[in-house]
Amino acid sequence: MLDILIIGGGPIGLACALEAQKAGLSYIIIEKGCLVNSLYNYPSTMTFFSTSEKLEIGGIPFVTISNKPNRAEALEYYRRVAFSNHLKVNLFEEVSCVERTDKHYTITTPKGKYEAKNVILSTGFYDIAVKLDIPGEDLPKVQHYYKDPHYYALQKVVVVGSSNSAIDVALETYRKGAEVTLVIRGDEVGHRVKYWVRPDIINRIKEGSIKAHFNSSLTAVREHEVDIQTPDGQITIPNDFVMAMTGYRPNFEFLKNIGITLSTDEKLIPQYNHETMETNLKGLYLAGVVVGGMDTHLWFIENSRVHAEIIVGDIVSKLKG
Ligand code: FAD
Repeated sequence: MLDILIIGGGPIGLACALEAQKAGLSYIIIEKGCLVNSLYNYPSTMTFFSTSEKLEIGGIPFVTISNKPNRAEALEYYRRVAFSNHLKVNLFEEVSCVERTDKHYTITTPKGKYEAKNVILSTGFYDIAVKLDIPGEDLPKVQHYYKDPHYYALQKVVVVGSSNSAIDVALETYRKGAEVTLVIRGDEVGHRVKYWVRPDIINRIKEGSIKAHFNSSLTAVREHEVDIQTPDGQITIPNDFVMAMTGYRPNFEFLKNIGITLSTDEKLIPQYNHETMETNLKGLYLAGVVVGGMDTHLWFIENSRVHAEIIVGDIVSKLKG
């Protein structure tokens, strides 16, 4: 019987494993994809807005030449942390079910069953895209994840959204020769856009290099065109690709099936004790960005890595008691 089973091998799952190891507890991480799967799936061109020391886990230095690391450096760092600390992690194994049986948990994956006294759920929010719910969304040209700008050269690209991801896609694809149209629900570029990027997009829109429709929404996608509802009425424009950068959300169905209570408003915030990170289920803890419900923008590696110490501290004190 394990002391802790950690679901999700993202930065925060790894941080929990380091703490468990330090405390001499038995544990395993079960990760459905590759190591730090979400980071692996980020755009290949991305640079973190955090400086490297804010992404460190377990007090292990993350050394970079420039202040803000890029995706490749972060993959290198977390991989080295996992290897050099001999973290126990099973990759490409998805947890499908977590059940409380008597005084412990039984965790089921396609490869078998595990028993653990405590479970830490650090499953993040990057697996499920928030859908537009419009006709044509299922066409292959509608994409919710973005890897690299070259693919879109000389193409007519509609980017939906005005968050950091949307603005990065708009600027990068424009600079590789795409004809970019932004569709933005509000009346200006989002205020959470990185402070050094926001003036760039505003100026590109002002000079007309990137078209932007504010107070607008995409209403339908067809093979060679899209419909946009603008304040001046509906327009139809020719189109090759739609980048729907409308955000991501945690797997709420998974949380509900386990028995975790979610808030009844649209935020669906899971119930947990802020002092210990324990949910309404005894011995079942939340760590990392999954705690935010739909408020995914409030949580980062920076401010959620501390969950690891809090949770393992609570487990240790309960095991002693
Ligand atoms: P994740 O990294 O998402 O890890 C969750 C893991 O759980 C995944 O590997 C997933 O495959 C796995 N998983 C899910 N379900 C299951 C299951 N059923 N069974 C097994 N495994 C499962 N944060 C910062 O602090 N600074 C930044 O500069 C920054 N920049 C960002 C830039 C972008 C483009 C994005 C999208 C995010 C950025 N973030 C940044 C946010 C940061 O990446 C996340 O906060 C971070 O990944 C959270 O770590 P986590 O371990 O909680 O979740």
